[in-house]
Amino acid sequence: MDCIFCDIVNRKGEAEILFENDLVMAFLDIRPVNYGHTLVIPKKHFTNFLELPPEYLEELGKVTQLISGAIQAGLKADGFNVIINNGAAAGQTVYHFHFHIIPRFSSDFNYRPKFKVYADGSMKEFAEIIRNAVTKKG
Ligand code: AMP
Ligand code: ZN
Repeated sequence: MDCIFCDIVNRKGEAEILFENDLVMAFLDIRPVNYGHTLVIPKKHFTNFLELPPEYLEELGKVTQLISGAIQAGLKADGFNVIINNGAAAGQTVYHFHFHIIPRFSSDFNYRPKFKVYADGSMKEFAEIIRNAVTKKG
């Protein structure tokens, strides 16, 4: 299977690696939204967020927190975004799971989606659908 992130893990592809341990690796995104934009990936290939087993979820969470703190302190960022694009509709282009960490500065750019307003009663309906789905999973 061809995967550019697996290639980076196996040292067949180049990357500016920031951190790695047995399970997880962090490296700079080649096309940054802001300089220092970082990707945190599992070293084993999982396509997306829903596929991650608990030990990877935990380690990815810890390392994403560690690297986020380092980015904020090192680059003197005012904040940062942690993002997952899950599925093509959400903008996923590389199908090896990754967290994006994007350093943010007070006046860098303004990214806000157009917010929707729930029609009368429909907030309850959406909540009910999701609550039922959670119960089936749990
Ligand atoms: P996504 O659209 O969420 O799947 O994000 C994929 C990210 O991977 C994009 O931000 C790309 O710029 C980045 N990317 C693609 N190829 C490489 C590479 N070889 N090294 C580092 N980052 C990459
Ligand atoms: Zn992969």
